[in-house]
Amino acid sequence: MCGVIGIYGNDNVVYEIYEGLIALQHRGQDSAGIITYNEMFHLKKGMGLVNNVFNEKNIARLQGNIGIGHVRYPTSGFGSLEDAQPFYINYPFGIAMAHNGNITNYYELRELLEKKFFRKLTSYSDVEVILNMLGVALEKHLKSNNFFKSLCLATKEVFKYVKGSYSVVGIIADYGIFAFRDPYGIKPLSFGKKNNCYAFASESVVFDMLDYSFVRDVYPGELIFIDKNKKFHSKRLKREKYSYPCIFEYVYFARPDSIIDGIGVYEARLRLGEELGKECLKENLKPDVVIPVPDTARAAAFSVSKVLKVDCKEGLIKNRYIPRTFIMPTQKEREIKVKQKLNPIKSEIENKKVLVVDDSIVRGTTSKEIVALLRKAKAKEVYLAITCPPLRFPCVYGIDMMTRGEFIAKKYSIEKIRMMIGADKLIYQTIEGLIKAVGGGKREHFCTACFTGIYPTKIKKKELEKIEKERIKQKITL
Ligand code: AMP
Repeated sequence: MCGVIGIYGNDNVVYEIYEGLIALQHRGQDSAGIITYNEMFHLKKGMGLVNNVFNEKNIARLQGNIGIGHVRYPTSGFGSLEDAQPFYINYPFGIAMAHNGNITNYYELRELLEKKFFRKLTSYSDVEVILNMLGVALEKHLKSNNFFKSLCLATKEVFKYVKGSYSVVGIIADYGIFAFRDPYGIKPLSFGKKNNCYAFASESVVFDMLDYSFVRDVYPGELIFIDKNKKFHSKRLKREKYSYPCIFEYVYFARPDSIIDGIGVYEARLRLGEELGKECLKENLKPDVVIPVPDTARAAAFSVSKVLKVDCKEGLIKNRYIPRTFIMPTQKEREIKVKQKLNPIKSEIENKKVLVVDDSIVRGTTSKEIVALLRKAKAKEVYLAITCPPLRFPCVYGIDMMTRGEFIAKKYSIEKIRMMIGADKLIYQTIEGLIKAVGGGKREHFCTACFTGIYPTKIKKKELEKIEKERIKQKITL
């Protein structure tokens, strides 16, 4: 779960990158960083929100018309400052890089880099491995006097070695800016333009903020390079039969005002509500009111209410100043934070059969607290409808879903979950409904690994176990 931006502009790009990172803040609140280049690299990264890391003084230092930025929530590494992005190396060129995603053969590649190529790393961030792999490969392919050709050959090697998901932006000092996306296109990356300025961003919403026009998504397996004369080069270096964009981006993660791989996130959420509404009809639910859990589930709740022909009301109010409950280290802390975060509007709830719509259940903490809040506000009955199917498998591609043990649906049946969270009815989206709704007739293939356990990059059982083991270790260290 990260957000990236890369801009090749005319004047100092740091201000645009800063604004862009603010628009991507939802993709990571743990650390933020920007690196720019004029005759030398200028780097600032720190822990916390974009607003906390950058100030007038350090922004003034980040000179140059070319730069990349990153917001991070750690899915590998230890979440310390050493793991904050961007990173850079100085050989065979000055190369800076940031990425969104997660590589699944990290330890194998780290060992290869250390033992075979004598590259010493400074962190446990997986982008450092991609960066060094690119460095090693570029050195090998530099013979050609066509730099883009060399970069293509080097990136092809990255695609060959690096497994998992990675949407990458980078600078090559004195040569230009580049971006590539893994061959399965798991994490989003889009491309925009304003006059003779070029930008890459995890979500198209950045272009709206910065007045760039959205050109298109970077294709899976594609390398785009804008050279120092602002000439555009691109090549699709690896094609898989299908691409598999992460479906959870549409369910929960991305901003509703973004368009990813040709599908509007807001429209996808409206359709998720339509499909979920049909499931509620099958269960013969007859609520008096539909209430979204703010903010992600709003669009879906609106559609559910239309299908059921029942009013949709704001019955839960969110305190925006409470940090994310999901990242609290202990269960007790998470429970307290949910209570601080959400408060019911009693007049909308008292004596009513309430259907609450939320985007997902992971551990069940939020749902349990919400049901208790609504009962305390004297709801007559509480039904819970979830816009995605039961989450059961860890995401190895960059969404913060750590280990199988954390998923309530991995351990218990739906009926048991309903009892545990105390709802009168619990309705989940079906996997067919999910794919139909998000695809909207435009696309059938997505990464659905967290629901189905089918990983598009065909991860080995041993690799999965290793990732889980490391995550448990990191959680304890955090
Ligand atoms: P839980 O309380 O553990 O069941 O988590 C479910 C809640 O967390 C839902 O209300 C979601 O909106 C939110 N959520 C789901 N997945 C994630 C994620 N990967 N990171 C942060 N929040 C999430």
